[in-house]
Amino acid sequence: MRDVIENHYEEARQRALSLLEDTRETAEGCWVTNTAAPRKVTFRGHQLPAYRFVHCVLERHIVGRDWVVRHRCHNRLCMRPEHLILGTQADNKRDDWEYWAGGVDHRFL
Ligand SMILES: [Zn+2]
Repeated sequence: MRDVIENHYEEARQRALSLLEDTRETAEGCWVTNTAAPRKVTFRGHQLPAYRFVHCVLERHIVGRDWVVRHRCHNRLCMRPEHLILGTQADNKRDDWEYWAGGVDHRFL
């Protein structure tokens, strides 16, 4: 995927921007799609979650599968670049645990 994005960077960037145009802003400031699950994108034969694609392309953090793109806002539908941060699988689990221990998960309200 790294080579694909690097070799077609401008096309990837345009795709990422058009994905972001297709979102709406929530009261919390998240940019979400009207889909039940995180939207997927297919770019030159590779399918991946759209938020991961947006982050990788716009931040130019093009990373392997052992890295995850995390949501600072805990809204998996969100694609707002400022809400996305790169981490490891372990970080992601720790985030979830802290969140479940201390926060309200709006998905279950
Ligand atoms: Zn968000």
